[in-house]
Amino acid sequence: MAASGKMASFRLPPLPTIGEIIRLYNLRAERQLSQNFLLDMKLTDKIVRQAGSLKGAHVCEVGPGPGGLTRSILNAGAADLLVVEKDARFVPGLQLLSEAAPGRLRMVQGDILTYRMDRGFPKKIARKWEEEMIHLHIIGNLPFSVSTPLIIKWLEAMSDRTGPFAFGRTRLTLTFQKEVAERLTAGPGSRQRSRLSVMTQYLCKVRDCFTIPGRAFVPKPKVDVGVVHFTPLAQPQIQQPFKLVEKVVKNVFQFRRKYCRAFFPIIMLRLELAEQMLQMADVDPTLRPTQLSVAKFGALADAYSKLCARNPGLFSYDFREERRNKGRDKGLLAEGLDS
Ligand code: SAM
Repeated sequence: MAASGKMASFRLPPLPTIGEIIRLYNLRAERQLSQNFLLDMKLTDKIVRQAGSLKGAHVCEVGPGPGGLTRSILNAGAADLLVVEKDARFVPGLQLLSEAAPGRLRMVQGDILTYRMDRGFPKKIARKWEEEMIHLHIIGNLPFSVSTPLIIKWLEAMSDRTGPFAFGRTRLTLTFQKEVAERLTAGPGSRQRSRLSVMTQYLCKVRDCFTIPGRAFVPKPKVDVGVVHFTPLAQPQIQQPFKLVEKVVKNVFQFRRKYCRAFFPIIMLRLELAEQMLQMADVDPTLRPTQLSVAKFGALADAYSKLCARNPGLFSYDFREERRNKGRDKGLLAEGLDS
């Protein structure tokens, strides 16, 4: 459906409350599907406001459940809302909502981890990546069990301009466990600085919008929740393939509490290559991984790419596998796995 500026009114007519929908359809929360519902429309409206104006927008909502956030997205003026929900029990409640917003709500019953979002919207909505921001948003109160693998998958898709990013620079407004939200947005020197911070920030402008206390959800999860907004950058801060960046970042953070000079020889196969990489990237060897900026990771990725071109076999070398095979240094490895 075309995003239309002609919608007379995009506010929904009076409907049963979300609590009533839950009772009416007996929608008991399923723990395996990380179901924690938001019933407070003020809160769902606040999440939706973080996306910016949705008037006339195309939107994909992940896991609509009983439909609280879905109502807020429709009330904000989305012209075309595609919801992807794994649990079929929610279909009748969403059907009710679809009837209240004729032609504006489409439903897919499926798994967001495998759903082909590049087929979810018409090709004609696409915009050139560098030139213009597309009016396509992904919004979701994500299931905890899915949120980290999903954002990693979407970061790779962002880098390759596939999936939701086949249309252009699609913006994301998503919830995460508070600790994950902090890692996604942590800057250099922060205690939360991690692999996820660098992988996210080299591709996106990222904003930790606000925290929702666990008590706002039904049932109440053990943790608080952070709302995070992602805007893909027109030019990624690192100009190397995603897999290469991922390898460098993963290896550097393997020993997050050590100085760079202490662990580089281990990940780089040979001492002289490690020294070369640090020198080429102009990285102070007395810094810890958590202190490195995205620009420094970019310099390391460029240096690593050059060294791989000159040293066949370097890219496929995986020091962890070698250690596993040798079955030694368990302590050092365990220490590194906290990133
Ligand atoms: N949006 C609703 C709200 O805010 O009240 C529900 C949020 S609840 C945290 C997560 C929702 O995602 C549930 O409806 C759950 O069934 C759905 N879900 C879980 N895993 C999913 C998956 N792999 N793909 C699509 N939906 C999923």
